[in-house]
Amino acid sequence: MVTLADLQVKTLGAPRFDSPLASYVEGRATNQYYVAESDRILMDDTVELVQGREVPWEEIATFEAGGPRARLYFPPRSTRAAIVTCGGLCPGLNNVIRAVVRALDDHYGVPEVLGFRNGYAGLDPASGLTPVVLTRDTVADIHERGGTVLGSSRGARDPGVMVDTLVRHGIDILFVVGGDGSMRGAHVIHEEIERRGLEIAVVGVPKTIDNDIPHIGQSFGFQTAFAKAAESITAAKVEAQGALNGVAVVKTMGRHAGFIACYAALAAQTASFVLIPEVPFAMGGPNGLLAHLRRRVSDRGYAVIVVAEGAAQELLAEAGEGGTDASGNAVLADPARYVLERIRADYAARDEVVTLRYFDPGYTIRSVPADPADAVYCARLAQTAVHAAMSGRTDMVVGRRRHRFVNVPIPAVTQRSHNVSPDGDLWLSVLESTAQPLSMT
Ligand code: ATP
Ligand code: MG
Repeated sequence: MVTLADLQVKTLGAPRFDSPLASYVEGRATNQYYVAESDRILMDDTVELVQGREVPWEEIATFEAGGPRARLYFPPRSTRAAIVTCGGLCPGLNNVIRAVVRALDDHYGVPEVLGFRNGYAGLDPASGLTPVVLTRDTVADIHERGGTVLGSSRGARDPGVMVDTLVRHGIDILFVVGGDGSMRGAHVIHEEIERRGLEIAVVGVPKTIDNDIPHIGQSFGFQTAFAKAAESITAAKVEAQGALNGVAVVKTMGRHAGFIACYAALAAQTASFVLIPEVPFAMGGPNGLLAHLRRRVSDRGYAVIVVAEGAAQELLAEAGEGGTDASGNAVLADPARYVLERIRADYAARDEVVTLRYFDPGYTIRSVPADPADAVYCARLAQTAVHAAMSGRTDMVVGRRRHRFVNVPIPAVTQRSHNVSPDGDLWLSVLESTAQPLSMT
């Protein structure tokens, strides 16, 4: 169980400077904008959970509130910050880059930020990638397009070499925008900084299109991504309905967490079956997917199956595919191809007609610009990250829980992943809006 101690955010030291926010909101009672150092957000959201901890009130697990502080660790104006984007693409990366640059300039008078290119490779001189200077003008329009203007990459880099690069460029704050791997990398960089006794803050903005990072609420870009995936499900239904015994399979992102599959299915309201990594199922047998699918197709004339890319891995175990990518992540066998092949064989064995259609919105959903809600969220997460870093916080990421922005230690978000609970209300909603039985095993 996560305790209060696990949620204590590290700082580089006592704050030393007044925030320049006073001049920014001239003539107003500026204190209303500052977050009190004592402001904490409850972790548990039910009385039962709080009581279940059986600890005194002051030891209840709480998160530090994110937001601007009255006192800063770094001197406004003369602080040097850098930003790096790592891992896979996700809608909103450019929004985050832009908002970090703008918040540093608008709020703290830091006029330029260094952008390391292509992920952690950009912090390693051996890659030959030179950093770019980001100013309010160079980032002005970048939020209008998907991807990341800084580029990204996978693959391990020596933390010692990366910290040398930060020192050489006089960097006081490093913002890391990336997934679980990137946050592990950021923690290792922080440890190297700490070992050398340097005063460099490392603050992360977690990026995961799969929404699989714990404690941070919803991840940015997730909403844009599932909305895009929902378009494919709607298109798949049209195709399936238009064919004789049409069965359309839509593959969504979701290596270990089925959030995109669930939310896209709920948004489209046309999926017949949703297959996610968290819920194992059988293909054959009286209660397997094939039996339920045949029933559905004979009742309604068509079916739509949404498959998360990490589903059915136990069924594919003997497929012999797999291995690891440059970052050491497992390469998954393709469940959509497997499901399609099994359906084709099943209908062929019965000498019945089936028309199969396959949709893979995969990389499209990662590359689109953030929708308005995600754009707002990205901007505010980035501002929260800037406020945290300027106040000297380090080895942390930003998130949002129940409408409050929070600062969370990196180890708390990398120790476990966030998944769809087969016993939870999200999965129940999916079951209620599909033809899927409670269990297909
Ligand atoms: P996503 O999985 O959402 O695409 P990610 O950040 O998890 O994003 P990875 O490719 O796993 O993507 O990692 C990004 C970077 O972080 C890589 O350069 C990788 O070498 C580094 N990294 C990953 N895990 C660690 C770790 N345990 N220690 C140090 N660095 C790591
Ligand atoms: Mg990852």
